[in-house]
Amino acid sequence: MEKQWKICVLPGDGIGPEITRQAVKVVTAVAEYFKIPLEIEEALIGGAALEKEGMPLPMSTVNRCRAADAILLGAVGDPRWDNQPLSMRPESGLSSLRAKMGLYINLRPAVSYPMLEDVGPLAQGGDFDLLVVRELSGGLYFGEKGIRQEDGVRCAYDVESYSEKEIERIARFAFQAAEKRRKELVSVDKASMMQTSCLWREVVERLAPQFPEVSLRHMYIDHAAMELIRNPRQFDVILTSNLFGDFLSEEAAALTGSLGLAPSASLGYAASGIYEAVHGSAPALAGKDRANPVGAILSAAMMFRHTYSMEMACKAVQWAVMETLKRCRTADIALPQTEPVGTEEMGDIVVQQLREILPSVIPDPVFGAETLEEIQ
Ligand code: NAD
Repeated sequence: MEKQWKICVLPGDGIGPEITRQAVKVVTAVAEYFKIPLEIEEALIGGAALEKEGMPLPMSTVNRCRAADAILLGAVGDPRWDNQPLSMRPESGLSSLRAKMGLYINLRPAVSYPMLEDVGPLAQGGDFDLLVVRELSGGLYFGEKGIRQEDGVRCAYDVESYSEKEIERIARFAFQAAEKRRKELVSVDKASMMQTSCLWREVVERLAPQFPEVSLRHMYIDHAAMELIRNPRQFDVILTSNLFGDFLSEEAAALTGSLGLAPSASLGYAASGIYEAVHGSAPALAGKDRANPVGAILSAAMMFRHTYSMEMACKAVQWAVMETLKRCRTADIALPQTEPVGTEEMGDIVVQQLREILPSVIPDPVFGAETLEEIQ
């Protein structure tokens, strides 16, 4: 067990500060239970950093992130900066940080919540439990981009490029993830139209014999987008590129009932990673105590799993969220004629549930006697 946890918190913009505050409450409760000293440092990113330091990712933030075990991030994006060049927009702070930290894996799990069957336009999608493994450091978002003159008119371009090495390392991770789950991998591409997708498919095929227990299917992105809504139960692990993964994972989040519920982890070769809800800064909700903090809280749960290798702490937080959702809901998932709870109250209730759950699933924090079966 770690002697001390050192976490860098990047609240960012919009609802970012409100939701990260709830994730920090949860992490603090777990640290207190295990009697682990917790050092939390905050730093600026996105619009908040542009406002104070004139750039979306100050070097001081990068240094703090590098010195931390893990990063809890809120969200970036503020309409005030929407008309700036791309490099001076809040969103570029996050993509630069991911690149500087060498994070090439983006994990976006989506599960159905039995107690939320009645919520959202895609309700009654049935039981599903899937994981989107999205390539994070290459592809269209990081390719050459610009504007050139063609016959006197401006022509904008963004180049999608993937090397065999980039495809192989993310595909290997996805096969390994599938091995630990239901052993079914769907690789999503557009090999009928895109050269990068042809190479993607070739590399994935080449890797498959190393994972004989995993069944592999290929699916075109347009078909996958439709199948995800039609029958999400058919998916276990979905492997895809940066761009396609961005879209598919938000679609998967909507299937759970609300974008506000979806967590993510961005990982690389080191144990540290960025843990953040899938959604953006939701400017219309900012400062109103109306945002759902569950995505941020479940992202902290992923931190226990991936950075601290504390599967029991991860499961305990997930369980606390389930218990909370049985009792109360934020506005995005509330039923008509019911009174939603606010962001802060939802965070407090998760912490309260967690404090009750921890001693029952992890009887002895000193020796860490963990029994996974107890919390199934
Ligand atoms: P968004 O995810 O912020 O919001 C989409 C919809 O979901 C909105 O209706 C919003 O109210 C709702 N929503 C989002 N999070 C919620 C939560 N926790 N609880 C309840 N409802 C929630 O996406 P957008 O509106 O397209 O973008 C807003 C800003 O966020 C933009 O500047 C965009 O660039 C940025 N953005 C940032 C990230 C990130 O930080 N990783 C991701 C996506 C978008």
